[in-house]
Amino acid sequence: MYTGNELRDMFRKFFEERGHKILPSASLIPKDDPTLLLTVAGMVPFKPYFQRRVEPPFPRATTAQKCVRTPDLEEVGKTARHHTYFEMLGNFSFGDYFKKEVIPWAWEYVTQVLKIPAEKLWITVYPEDDEARQLWIEKAGVKPERIIGDPENFWAAGPTGPCGPCSEIYVDLGETRGCGRPECAVGCDCDRFLEIWNLVFMQYNRDEAGVLTPLPKQNIDTGMGLERIASVMQGVETNFDTDLFRPIIDFVADLAGIKYKENPKNDLALKVVADHVRAISFMLADGIRPNNEGRGYVLRRILRRAVRYAKLLGIDKPFLESVFRIIQRDYAQAYPELKDNENFIINHLNLEEKNFQATLDQGTQMLQEKVRELVEKGETVLGGSDAFYLYETYGFPVELTEEILAEQGLSVDMPSFQASAEEHRQRAKEQSQQMRAAAESADLIQRAKALGVTPFLGYHQVSCEAKI
Ligand code: ATP
Ligand code: MG
Ligand code: MG
Ligand code: MG
Repeated sequence: MYTGNELRDMFRKFFEERGHKILPSASLIPKDDPTLLLTVAGMVPFKPYFQRRVEPPFPRATTAQKCVRTPDLEEVGKTARHHTYFEMLGNFSFGDYFKKEVIPWAWEYVTQVLKIPAEKLWITVYPEDDEARQLWIEKAGVKPERIIGDPENFWAAGPTGPCGPCSEIYVDLGETRGCGRPECAVGCDCDRFLEIWNLVFMQYNRDEAGVLTPLPKQNIDTGMGLERIASVMQGVETNFDTDLFRPIIDFVADLAGIKYKENPKNDLALKVVADHVRAISFMLADGIRPNNEGRGYVLRRILRRAVRYAKLLGIDKPFLESVFRIIQRDYAQAYPELKDNENFIINHLNLEEKNFQATLDQGTQMLQEKVRELVEKGETVLGGSDAFYLYETYGFPVELTEEILAEQGLSVDMPSFQASAEEHRQRAKEQSQQMRAAAESADLIQRAKALGVTPFLGYHQVSCEAKI
């Protein structure tokens, strides 16, 4: 059985033997990229090479890239395969090799190195990409009936720029893992057909008018989820049952005094806590600080969600640092930043946890009262000002309030929440302007007094002088 660490190394070694340079993972904070809050895929650090804004220093590279995907947050624990933080294994060609090399390599890696039986594999291609379909059949030897056209298999970083068709590899985990619906097939939302690898063939540039022209130098960008391939290779039911996760889950279960796999509701919470603490540990390790905007808000939101789910498991005491220690033990060899930045990580974990713990119970109580009122009135939507009060006073990210309400079939009036937040911002801005003006005039008066003169500051500031 391969461990997660071995699978990370094997992938990079396979591509190193094929002329790729092994590079360390880049930070979760994208460099010089205002379009992205966080690194969401292995290709992100290489965007300048793909776009030829920077001349690539080598033609081929391979990495295990740290990624965070907030859009997948609410899938965590509900599907077997989604995390907020995960590692993406990838091989990249910067205007060097293209489809006819990468397709047979991917097949060789999956069937001969990992030895996944061909009869369990499915391939999807972009319907118009006959070239890829033919290469899968002729060069890799895939049976034509195992190749499916999928119109969604087209990748673009944005509305303009490099883009192209992609091709994905799926593993059929067997009927017992499926939803059982007659239409269940590759692409179904259930856990039977697991997407393990996406190969992107960056062959066009899209201009403002939407016209595609072939790129002079075509690129390859692939991404394979480490946790997913580990779940396949270790023959376990979900990513959370691999050696990359199980020790964290078991540790959290011990803290809560429960057993994993005894109660589905607890299991969901255990998976969420394990996933989220792993995510925030790596985010802090890369220097992201919790705050109220941008990636700092994402971090805060994930952290507070972890604390709330831990509470649902009955964990009342501070626990983040102890879970971090397990993550550090298991991952610091591959990611030394977990050791190097340990003080920063622990300080922020403890501070944030303390702040939120202090108000979580009160906030939850207030929210439950509001829910009772709503239900009594036969209403289903919580007013934006109430949601804002929870945010402002108890530190409840509005997404958390939304989620707690959704569990009871209720929702938040988001436009009115935004309006309350805007009103608050305006008021705070005015207040700080007033305070600055007051401080400036006080300073002026002090200086004037020192000089023995009385400056005229306008009538409205008389009261200000009186307060000095
Ligand atoms: P899915 O359809 O399962 O959500 P995706 O098509 O969004 O996956 P890609 O953008 O193609 O994923 O990313 C490349 C690979 O990264 C996927 O094939 C998968 O192995 C892995 N991956 C993507 N999202 C996640 C996630 N949230 N957690 C773990 N692994 C992921
Ligand atoms: Mg996805
Ligand atoms: Mg997909
Ligand atoms: Mg995909």
